[in-house]
Amino acid sequence: MSLQKRGAMIILSSPSGAGKTTLVKLISKNKKYFTSISHTTRTPRLNETDGIDYFFIDRKQFQNLINENEFLEYAKVFDNYYGTQKKSIIDKLDEGKNVIFDIDWQGTEQIIKRNLNYKLISIFILPPSKKVLHERLSNRDMKDKLIVEERMKQFDKDILHWINYNYVVINDDLNSCYDKIISILDNELNNKKSNYDKVFIEKHIKKLL
Ligand code: 5GP
Repeated sequence: MSLQKRGAMIILSSPSGAGKTTLVKLISKNKKYFTSISHTTRTPRLNETDGIDYFFIDRKQFQNLINENEFLEYAKVFDNYYGTQKKSIIDKLDEGKNVIFDIDWQGTEQIIKRNLNYKLISIFILPPSKKVLHERLSNRDMKDKLIVEERMKQFDKDILHWINYNYVVINDDLNSCYDKIISILDNELNNKKSNYDKVFIEKHIKKLL
């Protein structure tokens, strides 16, 4: 199969609470994109459904999938394991579907290292400020202040990985962030590069730290 006919791997990463999952859901409404559903050992949140948001499995099942070499990538994030199963994703890519991965920087590094024969587009999403991030995390995990604090602490480490992504977008407004991502993807899928202001992003990162 020629490279052109294959789908692209589109990775969206962000520190927890930057609004990435909402963006992924919006993008996947477009039939051009198929969202990879990860496996996780995390317990479901109230609004989450097994097989739609994640495949929720226990540690033993996760370990079996690792042993059977089923994962394209997997990582431990906040004491839970998350992984992308290989087969279903490769089938989609070979059918010409563009697959969106909502994964962290560790998984992104593993996929980059695999050097697969599919176009790879990676986008890192940042929140506009720490205050907004805290609000978003608090609204989501209202019952558990500890989780919010843990994720805020992790934030400073996670954002350092922005440099390894092709593009960085600030999610200050959902619609404009969505438009920016779609424009990047449309360009890339037509083999055109988009510009993004690296100096501005560097300044924004310094502000966030
Ligand atoms: P959450 O628990 O908030 O749904 O996800 C926590 C983090 O795990 C997010 O940064 C999310 O992108 C990441 N994540 C979700 N699925 C996967 C996966 O399959 N692999 C990796 N490496 N990270 C994932």
